[in-house]
Amino acid sequence: MTTRSDCEFRDQADPLAPLRDQFALPEATIYLDGNSLGARPKATSERLQHLLEQEWGHDLIQSWNTAGWIHLPHRIGNKIARLVGARDNDLVVADSTSVNLYKVLTAAARIQRARSPQRRVIVSERSNFPTDLYIAEGLCEELGWTLRLLEAEEIEANLGPEVAVLMLTQVNYRTGRMFDMAAMTATAHGAGVLTVWDLAHSAGAVPVDLTGSDADFAIGCGYKYLNGGPGAPAFVWVHPRHAGEFSQPLSGWMGHIAPFEFSPHYRPAEGVARYLCGTPPILAMAALECGVDTVLAAEPYGGMAALRAKSIELTELFAQLVEQRCAGHGLAVVSPGDASQRGSQVCLTRTEGGYAIVQALIARGVIGDFRAGDERTPDILRFGFTPLYTRYVDVWDAVEHLREVMVSDEWQRPEFNRRRAVT
Ligand SMILES: *Cc1c(COP(=O)(O)O)cnc(C)c1O
Repeated sequence: MTTRSDCEFRDQADPLAPLRDQFALPEATIYLDGNSLGARPKATSERLQHLLEQEWGHDLIQSWNTAGWIHLPHRIGNKIARLVGARDNDLVVADSTSVNLYKVLTAAARIQRARSPQRRVIVSERSNFPTDLYIAEGLCEELGWTLRLLEAEEIEANLGPEVAVLMLTQVNYRTGRMFDMAAMTATAHGAGVLTVWDLAHSAGAVPVDLTGSDADFAIGCGYKYLNGGPGAPAFVWVHPRHAGEFSQPLSGWMGHIAPFEFSPHYRPAEGVARYLCGTPPILAMAALECGVDTVLAAEPYGGMAALRAKSIELTELFAQLVEQRCAGHGLAVVSPGDASQRGSQVCLTRTEGGYAIVQALIARGVIGDFRAGDERTPDILRFGFTPLYTRYVDVWDAVEHLREVMVSDEWQRPEFNRRRAVT
């Protein structure tokens, strides 16, 4: 049986422990929702203060040059590239995840329309994140294509000659189940299908090798494990083999080969720069860079591989403690037991009361979240583990709170059973 002092001992022996000090975390909070909104880096306040007072307040428009504002999409892009196995200058920061998905899906669709016009189907996973499905639906309507939704285990056998694009999120937002990106991409390519990967729950959470896995297009989120702040800009990547040929539909001036020539005709910039559309949001970019830097700070300690090793230990400890200490309360772990198929989260389910249990935990300072199920998928109590700032004792204490909430029936109180606008 694991004890709390075992967990304290593991924290003392953890080489990554000092990285927690990079974050401004409230004293009494156990934050297990970094998969939805990463915690705030301490450095962000000072950086934004300087940006406001000096770069914007004093230097005004000159800062596009003197403070390098214009290069931020590339500079931060190259930092994120180090975390996801991309080469320098194959990845940029721009817009939101949803908008970038529209760009890359269209780019992939355009390539397929030129190569194999009979392919007019986009395949995705039925439980993919809704915005991904909605964006694909919208594009299909525009193109007269079909979006086909399958269960994860049905996908490989259903990539027929009518399929143009396979669009997947590597780590499922509900269950935490993780696809093998290289294997899935190889299968897709064998069937003549291009791949679009959403790394929203991967970037900064699990090691990713974009170039090595031979994916075609990828996008990812800045405000989850990259700690960029609420609504942070997202990123977008293209495999070098498409870099010269792809085109995207939001052909704005920042993606023009020479934006400051103010030419009346669009000519795309070289490579990944053509993904840019309008003027980058500099305040949000600066905050994102502080967030990305907190992940890069793990490089001297072994980088993503070390973070992943700790994340596996944290998720395994949580699942094991829930099974040991909360047995008999109807809670079941739905995330894969095999760490190689699991992202940095553990999801529980219960036939009733999931929402209220999460609310009762939040009232105790243990922040997770709840995702409602439907006729095919169960309700989910979701707990994300960010190895940069989550301690082993946090895991122990969180499970102890969960146990108390269950044993005392605290979750049945009316105040925990009222739904709020954002779950
Ligand atoms: C978080 C998330 C998004 C978020 O998209 P936004 O445009 O930032 O709202 C998209 N896709 C997936 C899979 C996500 O997990």
